[in-house]
Amino acid sequence: GTDAGGAASADGLRLAGLTKRYPNGFTAVQGLDLEVPRGSFIALLGPSGCGKTTTLRMVAGLERPTAGTITLAGSDITHAKPHQRPVNTVFQNYALFPHLDIFENVAFGLRRRKVKDVEAQVRDMLDLVELDTQARKRPAQLSGGQQQRVALARALINQPEVLLLDEPLGALDLKLRRSMQLEIKRIQMEVGLTFMHVTHDQEEAMTMADTVAVMNAGVIEQMGAPSELYENPRSTFVANFLGQSNLIEGTVLSRAADVVTVDMHGVQVSVPTARVHTDGDRGWVGIRPEKVLIGGEGEALDAPGNTIPGGVVTDVSFVGVSTLYQVRMPWGQELAVFSQNTGRTRMFRTGERVELSWRPEYAFLLDIHQSAA
Ligand code: ATP
Repeated sequence: GTDAGGAASADGLRLAGLTKRYPNGFTAVQGLDLEVPRGSFIALLGPSGCGKTTTLRMVAGLERPTAGTITLAGSDITHAKPHQRPVNTVFQNYALFPHLDIFENVAFGLRRRKVKDVEAQVRDMLDLVELDTQARKRPAQLSGGQQQRVALARALINQPEVLLLDEPLGALDLKLRRSMQLEIKRIQMEVGLTFMHVTHDQEEAMTMADTVAVMNAGVIEQMGAPSELYENPRSTFVANFLGQSNLIEGTVLSRAADVVTVDMHGVQVSVPTARVHTDGDRGWVGIRPEKVLIGGEGEALDAPGNTIPGGVVTDVSFVGVSTLYQVRMPWGQELAVFSQNTGRTRMFRTGERVELSWRPEYAFLLDIHQSAA
């Protein structure tokens, strides 16, 4: 339109103060603010019950917001009926028409709108999802992954401003899930439409999306590129939800422009100031297991910086590409260490005395007031 406000949000999806309070008084989504630029792939990631499906359903028009607005491609669609929105949804259960063949399932939206050139558009779409040879089969004659691709094609053919994906891979086995993740990502890049994907699977979110919004109890805890969230989480919730973290209690001794010195049970370590997310003196020092080097007692480790002596190996699990060690530290806490099996690394045995070290730039510091559970 001719709306002069906010060029940045004019052609994307924008949620402002979006809130859903169910009739029973439960608030599932609380004042959500979110900007999704056109053509991006965003994942709403969070545990069961955090409000991600409710958010998606409000964008689809299937749930009425209690407060807030939804703007899409410059228009306020907060109160628009579902079919009046340029939005399509792919559900976990596919919801295909069983009595129509694959071609007619995909053609459905075009026929209803009496569009010309249906044949060519459906052919293109079936090519895109690699089902061109399956056009005359019924849905029941296809595998789960193929049916999911039909559902995708049927939604995409309408050229929605936003495609919503509600745990679309939840019914597939792990191997098929992995290949469909890459497949959907490829299709999104090819069509260049905005995708919003809901999942509780952190690996899936990080594989597929360019932006991940981590939700917890009805709010977005943190949003960013997968690597940004993984390497620089701002809360223990995000740190733990996106992979494994070692969290070690510590006290800030000094703060400088680029580095903060923390005492962890008598050992001093440095944390980059940009990765410090606490104001008080107490905090959790966070370090990912694969960022920790394990070495024999007194061996010179090649990581400069933070070295913690006095560990004892309590468990060794060989997992192929890597070995997972549990190491008990002098203060009684067990830390996890993922060591890549490059063939050049030496293996350690249960009971062996070791020291751990890591480069300061890999660590982060989080607020102590949150639980580390
Ligand atoms: P899941 O992955 O399990 O679907 P989710 O993050 O998508 O979880 P929602 O389905 O959005 O979560 O639900 C958020 C919260 O709102 C849950 O605690 C749920 O029990 C509650 N809820 C959902 N629908 C209703 C309803 N109609 N009435 C009351 N509470 C509801």
